Amino acid sequence: MAGAGPTGLTLALELARRGVEVRILDKSPEPFAGSRGKGLTARSQEVMDDLGIVDEVVEAGFRHLPNRVAVRGRVVGDSDPHADLNPTPDRPYESGLMIPQWRTEQILRERLSEFGIDVERGVEVVGFEQTTDKVTVRLAGGGTVMARYLVGCDGGRSTVRKALGVSFEGTGGIEGMLLGDVSVDGLTPDRWYQWSHPEKGFVALCPFRGINSWQFQGVPFADFDEEGNLPEPSLEYFQRVLDDIACDPGVRLSAPTWLSTWHVNVRMVDRFRDGRVFLAGDAAHVHPPAGGLGMNTGIQDAYNLGWKLALVLAGSADPSLLDTYQEERLPLARWTLGVSSAGLQKVTDNLGREDSSGFAGAATEDGQQLGLGYPWSSLSRDGDVTTGVRAGDRAPDAPCLSPDGSPLRLFDVFRGTHFTVLGFDGGPRHALQTLAEDAPDDVKYVVVGDSRGPGVDVVDDRGFARSAYGAHGGTLVVVRPDGYVALTAPATATDDVIDYLGCLVGRS
Ligand SMILES: Cc1cc2nc3c(=O)[nH]c(=O)nc-3n(C[C@H](O)[C@H](O)[C@H](O)COP(=O)(O)OP(=O)(O)OC[C@H]3O[C@@H](n4cnc5c(N)ncnc54)[C@H](O)[C@@H]3O)c2cc1C
Repeated sequence: MAGAGPTGLTLALELARRGVEVRILDKSPEPFAGSRGKGLTARSQEVMDDLGIVDEVVEAGFRHLPNRVAVRGRVVGDSDPHADLNPTPDRPYESGLMIPQWRTEQILRERLSEFGIDVERGVEVVGFEQTTDKVTVRLAGGGTVMARYLVGCDGGRSTVRKALGVSFEGTGGIEGMLLGDVSVDGLTPDRWYQWSHPEKGFVALCPFRGINSWQFQGVPFADFDEEGNLPEPSLEYFQRVLDDIACDPGVRLSAPTWLSTWHVNVRMVDRFRDGRVFLAGDAAHVHPPAGGLGMNTGIQDAYNLGWKLALVLAGSADPSLLDTYQEERLPLARWTLGVSSAGLQKVTDNLGREDSSGFAGAATEDGQQLGLGYPWSSLSRDGDVTTGVRAGDRAPDAPCLSPDGSPLRLFDVFRGTHFTVLGFDGGPRHALQTLAEDAPDDVKYVVVGDSRGPGVDVVDDRGFARSAYGAHGGTLVVVRPDGYVALTAPATATDDVIDYLGCLVGRS
């Protein structure tokens, strides 16, 4: 794959843990050092849970970081915008984490290297040729790489996208922002400080956990030129912007590790695939930072594509499975462009007010991405419309017990690369067990019962699983490897489940 940002790393990890031979090339000689996309949504944390790295991510992030908002230098609000969000049985990660993007990438890289795969650095993809069975990737300097598929995870200026000739329609380049990482003296790193000044602009400093590194964001209204450009970033300039907009708060900035200006673009492709070449992450969609969905959407593109590519490469699934990547992800990219643009408008209006609530005003509808799913997908089959979940929904978690009485969550059962068939109250055990035994790496058949007993794999002693899935006598629920409900069926519809899974894991 081209590009080792969060999208490329997640995809490489998804493939590597399935035993796929993968190469991840990045033109940059060093990993990117900036904090950029610093909000990791609850849904991305669930992805990290499945990838086995959620503990490291949680350890490195702030959850429930309060926002302190000042207008004209006077504090007008001090609150946690997610204060009313708590973990629930069906959603263990209730809110976003503040973690620098460089750290998220580092954790992904470390996990990837456990599979023996390291990013190949200083390797730039400059083009490719594809035939019906392979892609020849051309590198700067004249080398080539042969691959069965190429995924362009190479960011907003994607070479792969341009070489494909896919359009990247939208608007952009007008609104901009100063962004950087600096050390700070004069503030306690226990909240996100946001200063707005209706005539001058706004500036914010967000701390990161355990290090004296803060993300600086600034929009100094008076400094934009006619083309919407801001002056060259420098520590002195950032300090001046802070002192001016925050009305001399007595805060000193030092030791910058990243200084930049960022222009807002709102653009997306009209297709995510052409033959054996795919686009993912910023290569396919870019949008305003409001709501912090950029990196998260890329991570979830990768999470969607990874298992499909692996099954096709293994010869288990028909290559047409790959068409569902665009079918599922393109509408969500469009949704993300819409909500983040609306969020930017809200935050811009809000920051100019005397009673500003700061970035809290940018909160987007479903900002944690937990309600997103694929109900329209051709992979979503509702065979039992009386259950509490619909095909395409995110599969909820539930705290249960294992047969020996130790704690066991449904997310523990889902973790890994397989489909899971939940058979409530036993379901039609025999036929499904046979299916799981025939494809043990790809399908896990799990009997959910309300008490311990023979054949019960998951003890739903408090009824959380039954309630989260709205299950009743014998309900069958197939959960995809990426944690979405694939199919619901009554106990009598064993053949539907077998046919469904047979198409995806049964060809080899
Ligand atoms: C300056 C800046 C500030 C941002 N701030 C925010 C924010 O505050 N909140 C937010 O949610 N999002 C923010 N974003 C967006 C967020 O960082 C991105 O959505 C996220 O990085 C996308 O991840 P990605 O892996 O798709 O692409 P990227 O992170 O851009 O990674 C692409 C990778 O591909 C490599 N590459 C590029 N071309 C080639 C090539 N030809 N061959 C090989 N490798 C190549 C690059 O070196 C890079 O490592 C910001 C982005 C930028 C650029």
